Amino acid sequence: MEQSSSLELHIFWDRFLKIIEERVNHQSFNTWFKPLGIVDIQDDTLVISVPQSYYQSWLEEHYLPLLKSASQRLLDRKVNISFVISEQHDSTVVDDAITNPSDLMQPPVDSSQLFFEQQVINPRFTFDSFVVGNSNQFAHAAAKAVAESPGTTAFNPLVIYGGVGLGKTHILQAIANYCLSNGKLHHDRSRVIIVSSEKFTMDFIMSIQNNVTTQYSNYYRTADLLLVDDIQFFNNKERTQEEFFHIFNALHQNGRQIVLTMDRPPSQLKGLADRLINRFQWGLVTDIQPPDFETRIAILKKKAEADGVYLDNAITEYIAENITSNIRELEGALIRLLAYSSLRGQDITLDMSTRVLSDTFTKKPSIITIEFIQNLVCDYFSLSNNQIMSNSRRKEVAIARHIAIYLAKKLTDSSLKTIGLHFGGRDHSTVIHSIRTVENKYMNDSSLAKHIQVLTNKAKSS
Ligand code: ADP
Ligand code: MG
Repeated sequence: MEQSSSLELHIFWDRFLKIIEERVNHQSFNTWFKPLGIVDIQDDTLVISVPQSYYQSWLEEHYLPLLKSASQRLLDRKVNISFVISEQHDSTVVDDAITNPSDLMQPPVDSSQLFFEQQVINPRFTFDSFVVGNSNQFAHAAAKAVAESPGTTAFNPLVIYGGVGLGKTHILQAIANYCLSNGKLHHDRSRVIIVSSEKFTMDFIMSIQNNVTTQYSNYYRTADLLLVDDIQFFNNKERTQEEFFHIFNALHQNGRQIVLTMDRPPSQLKGLADRLINRFQWGLVTDIQPPDFETRIAILKKKAEADGVYLDNAITEYIAENITSNIRELEGALIRLLAYSSLRGQDITLDMSTRVLSDTFTKKPSIITIEFIQNLVCDYFSLSNNQIMSNSRRKEVAIARHIAIYLAKKLTDSSLKTIGLHFGGRDHSTVIHSIRTVENKYMNDSSLAKHIQVLTNKAKSS
């Protein structure tokens, strides 16, 4: 494959960082990802520049799966990550974040300040960007009521439960955003704390290690609004549960609002103390169900609109019919389409959508067929199927045809005769000629070798 143009790289990188930003907390993003740059995308390798070598080791150790999955999502193929140390390293960016490089390698040990800094309230997750449908209207209404008058409704705690990717975290963040931007908390030291149960646990362990459990506890007890995401991960963490139990009681007694999410109803949580489960049922427990068809369409339209693109009904229907139970996957499909269309500079059509998305929708057994290879090669070289079947001697058509025939031989069990038939009735000597042509050139023509390698990977990973 050709090297990507700088504009393509720029667009890719922009979207890439957006995905990462959603996945990691603000501080980690600023520290570890902001100072990075994109160098190139070569075949199946994304080359990233880092300002210092320790970035590479940190990223490899902590974030490699994230980097890979984000690039795979955008490029629609398996991607390796390699790092280079950038020559004009901009020290101000790094130094802004943290001055002493050795600090970066260890967890910071400063006491309560630490917990303040790490809250993540993502401004993207608001009530305005949340689409309400049958599946989530009760949760939405309750969340809105709580955000309007935190601590003073009967919904304390408010518990929202439901499966993965259905909008629990979104609603939690929306409550925080709403309270902050509408001045819903009147105390002098109004504090909104939003935390995942995993981070709560990690911080608690760290506070024990660093002898700051009192500060830790005070930090949470002085919250006006405490939102804890994914409570089910407290399972079997007895000391953490005990700490949370006391914090919960202190807040509840003082009329402070608590909002919790979990993946199942409180009564079905495993490995949680009964007294906690009991308290979770003091307020309002409400669920979020998978969205119905109309809601899925509405969500897709809203997200596309936010990205400034118009999607045909046929396209939103195609996606909504195929992704039924997870809103994050709906978004993922849309992001892939947008990335594909901007990298190729083509408008999104139904045809493109089916080509880009069909493989993720139906997990078909991975038998590679001749038709599949033809489509792949045509797509890759932007040719039509007719061209590749034709007798055209135009150089780029002929090369693409040779490559397709070569791959059909390599990747399927078809006989030369069958392959010939699939390519407009060519006889077997013509087929052999194509295969030989590719084999002869393969050694000396590095761009041809690259094309073959990329196409082979694509075919195998489909
Ligand atoms: P959960 O926490 O339940 O696993 P999230 O809140 O992370 O799910 O939601 C996954 C993605 O789907 C997020 O990007 C979120 O913005 C989006 N999403 C979920 N529900 C809705 C909705 N009703 N309207 C718009 N976007 C939604
Ligand atoms: Mg979540």
